Amino acid sequence: MGYLHLSITELHNLLKEGTVTPKQLVDEAIAKAKADNNNCFEYIMEKEAYEFVDKLGDFDDSNPLWGIPFAIKDNYSTKDVPTCASSNILEGYVPVFSSTVYQRLIDRKAIPIGKTTLDELAMGGTGTSGHKGKTYNPWDETHKHQIGGSSCGSASCVAASIVPFSIGSDTGDSVRKPASYGGLVGMKPTWGRISRYGLLPFAASLDHVGFFTRNVEDSAILLDVLAGRDGKDFSSSFEPVDKYEEDLLKPRGKRIAVIKEIFDSITNEEIKKTFINTLNSLKNAGFTVDFVNFDVKLLRAVYPSYIVISCAEATSNNANLDGIKFGLRESGETYQDVTKNTRTKGFSELIKRRFVIGSFSLLRENQDVLFRRAQKARRLIVEETNRILKDYDAIYCPASPTTAPLFEKHADKLSNEYLIADNWLTIANFGGLPSITLPIGFSDGLPFGGNLTSSPFKEKDLFAIASCLEDITGLKNLSKKGEE
Ligand code: GLN
Repeated sequence: MGYLHLSITELHNLLKEGTVTPKQLVDEAIAKAKADNNNCFEYIMEKEAYEFVDKLGDFDDSNPLWGIPFAIKDNYSTKDVPTCASSNILEGYVPVFSSTVYQRLIDRKAIPIGKTTLDELAMGGTGTSGHKGKTYNPWDETHKHQIGGSSCGSASCVAASIVPFSIGSDTGDSVRKPASYGGLVGMKPTWGRISRYGLLPFAASLDHVGFFTRNVEDSAILLDVLAGRDGKDFSSSFEPVDKYEEDLLKPRGKRIAVIKEIFDSITNEEIKKTFINTLNSLKNAGFTVDFVNFDVKLLRAVYPSYIVISCAEATSNNANLDGIKFGLRESGETYQDVTKNTRTKGFSELIKRRFVIGSFSLLRENQDVLFRRAQKARRLIVEETNRILKDYDAIYCPASPTTAPLFEKHADKLSNEYLIADNWLTIANFGGLPSITLPIGFSDGLPFGGNLTSSPFKEKDLFAIASCLEDITGLKNLSKKGEE
């Protein structure tokens, strides 16, 4: 019998009773990772995981992560473990240091079992652009549907019961969108709440550490472990860290805003109906739920502004992938030739396109009309959001207008459904706001989620509301168990 469909807390209790040992959990996780047919892994840490088990020491009841297997997106540096961010350009790169997130988890005796696939360098949302090809959604055994990206492998391996939690990264929605498609809880806290030291940067002003679990309590447990100032990351916050798990069930604010323009942009009637039912249950549970307005022009500007800003930052951040310092190196007569040949061979089309957009918007003659204009739009969008959050504890809307899309989805990219309902989650990256996705229903066997977003450093409120929602929907600990 397998155990890894269980939550962190359930596994902790079994480890405490001695019903299961960390070695058995690692056996199961490694066996499942090797048998995985969803393309979750860049690298399975078999040897490393067993070395960790040997060094675990005695069970520690005060440490909920003791002996719990996990997986981490392959854009986090892991000392002595290959890290390539699903890109050919980092082929063969083995970091000499570990990211703070990874270090904190292993210091707390969680056991890493693998590095997960992503859209190349975390750019993209389909789970298709990594150098190992498509990552699949475990909820569809025929492999026709996306799990979404960019944290595709991290989402899939939790949805497939390979591990109870995993680490992702979220620059536009890369944890919170796949969480919706995978029936998972996907959380990204406030910008600066968790150190990004050792996370390969995509767009530093938007990048967040995020994680996947199968319930809200496990999400709070992870934030307890990961939050806090880190001297190695100058952007990490000095703000005192709350006790997220301990305070989970304490009553908090109950004022919820639903943005009417986002809801109205959705065409899927089943998602709308289920969402409205959930709102009614929230009202019955004593919440105030109001539909509020958001300027449509600003909502339609979220995605274009995001593309300009994120591509500009990505172009600059990835300039160090030059074929000299690490990873792939193509030959050439001069430094310029080596760089040109390496980058031409090492990056996929999607990355090259984004670097062209980034470089174009940073050209001196384009900066005002593209880069600065996008920054201004970002500011206005954040101001409009803060205006709503002054009166409400959280914004709540469907995380996506659809369940997991087919791989050959062709969206009308100028429609409100695409520009607004499919991309509004990025508002939380613009403002650095804490944001959590959790399941609200199923349609044709595929899950879909809702997203709660609140003001900076209000993670405690967010978890409390999310926990009420979990009780209302009854949708927690969802996963595909697979063969056992
Ligand atoms: N889908 C978005 C993009 O294409 C988000 C990526 C992310 O959050 N890393 O860039």
